[in-house]
Parts: sequence; structure tokens; C-alpha cells
Amino acid sequence: MIFKQLFDQKSSTYTYLIASSKGREALIIDPVLENVNDYISLLKDLDLELVKVIDTHIHADHVTGASELKELTKCSTIMGENTPAETVEIKVKDDEYINLDNLKIRAMYTPGHTSDSYSFLMDNYLFSGDTLLINGTGRTDFQNGNAKHAYNSIFNKLLKLPEETLLYPAHDYKGEKVSTIGKEKKYNPRLQVKSEDEYVEIMNNLNLKKPAEIDFNVKKNINLGA
Ligand code: FE
Repeated sequence: MIFKQLFDQKSSTYTYLIASSKGREALIIDPVLENVNDYISLLKDLDLELVKVIDTHIHADHVTGASELKELTKCSTIMGENTPAETVEIKVKDDEYINLDNLKIRAMYTPGHTSDSYSFLMDNYLFSGDTLLINGTGRTDFQNGNAKHAYNSIFNKLLKLPEETLLYPAHDYKGEKVSTIGKEKKYNPRLQVKSEDEYVEIMNNLNLKKPAEIDFNVKKNINLGA
């Protein structure tokens, strides 16, 4: 399998490129508009045909490269069915599978950070978007975020996956690249709560600053960056 974890410096976003092998079909998760040319050269170097691009949710901190990639490669755009982005071609439901050659990627509806947040599981690789981060969790104070829903998505869905599941989030601000469900259960400070109420209390009192350019980014992303 080909697996590449790419990093956007400006927004600290991780983008993932997956393919079964050289010369085959590829899929990209959470592309960043400014880096589209890099993805195109990487696809060329690996002799891959981009067929699908997924956004885990409508991002607030960068503009998605989905539309640009679609224009350049004719790939299909995918998001969860709860997305407000009308131009998404394939809207997947909870537990639906996305096929890429012989690879199967399971869509998991994990709302809370935003109401349209999905995670994607391929074998033991979990792409958690901003639902579950390394040593953190996605904020729940904008874009119909909901701390109760986030608790349910994290504790009753993602943390139920096998401990050895590899966690690949959409962001990291401290240079961490990968973790596991087991490690997060044990060490993620946000997850060391005794109840849903305690989690909600923490999330509702983070008092974070509104991200710079959120209004512009969300408006663009509702159109998949076009
Ligand atoms: Fe986000």
C-alpha cells in the first residue's frame, strides 16, 4: 500500500494520500488548496490516478483543494451526508464503504466538532478529522458543534475501536504525526473524564479565540473551495 502523510505549515493540516500500489487509483483526504500542485506532482511521481477526494468536514482554518483537484483530475468529491456542501458528488452515510481498488474505507459519522464531521477507517488506519486529535479533541464551539455529540462520537464510537488502531488526525500543532486509540485512551488529557457532563463542562469553557479567516474559509468550503 502507498500511504503519504502531508503537512500544511500555515494551518497545521495533515492531508493523506492513499493507493494500493504504484500505477493504481489514489484517494486524498483533506487536501489544502495552496498545496494542490504538490499533490499533482506526487501523483505523477507515483504514477497514480486520483479518483476520489474526501473532506472529513467543512474546515474553518483552510480552504479545501477538492474542487481544484476535481478540475485537474476529474476525481469525485466525497463527504458525509450531513455536509452543507451541495456540490459534493458522493455523500456517504454512517457505516458505508468507499472502495479504492482492493482497499475498503469505512465512513463513520462522528459529529460534535461540527455537525457534518465524519471519520474514515481503512484497516487499522483511522482518519479522525478534528473529532479526535493527538492529546486533544476538536473544539465544539462553532459550525453547529456540540460537546455532547462529540463525547458520544469519541467515547462510544472511536474509542471502541481496537487499541492498536492508528490515529491519523486532520491537524497537529506540536509535530506529532500518529498515535493509537490505546495511547489516547490512556494519555489524552481531554479523555480523562468520568462522565459526559464533565466532558461537556470542559468543552463549553475552553474560551478559544475564533480562528482567523473562519468566515472566508467556511464560505469557500461550502463550495468545496471553488
Ligand atoms: Fe475542523
